[in-house]
Amino acid sequence: MSCIFCQIVDKRIPANFIYEDDAVVAFPDINPQAPHHYLVVPKVHYENLLAVPKDSDVFNRVYSAIDQVVNKAGIAETGFRVVVNTKDDGGQTVPHLHFHVLGGRFMTWPPG
Ligand code: AMP
Ligand code: ZN
Repeated sequence: MSCIFCQIVDKRIPANFIYEDDAVVAFPDINPQAPHHYLVVPKVHYENLLAVPKDSDVFNRVYSAIDQVVNKAGIAETGFRVVVNTKDDGGQTVPHLHFHVLGGRFMTWPPG
């Protein structure tokens, strides 16, 4: 098992979890792009956004986790951005589904 996020989920690679439940973990990105930058990661290994079975409740679970992360981080009021880079053109570098949560500064548009 070489997936880096599976190893973080299994606590074989250290990360400072800001949130954890039975389905999801969240921890700071090692290369933050904003004052607040967290990765919200389903514990089950799905390669990307399109690999999730249609009957899965993982998006509900991720939504619930994001809600708690942004409140805990204090960025629920000022705002934040959620990004899911998907496959090569989407800029995905880790092939385990994850949601970037960025906040603490104004986010420009369009993204790079
Ligand atoms: P993506 O490029 O969208 O697949 O996002 C992968 C993210 O994982 C990048 O923003 C990396 O900085 C981040 N990352 C890689 N390894 C670690 C790690 N050990 N702990 C925290 N974040 C990581
Ligand atoms: Zn994985």
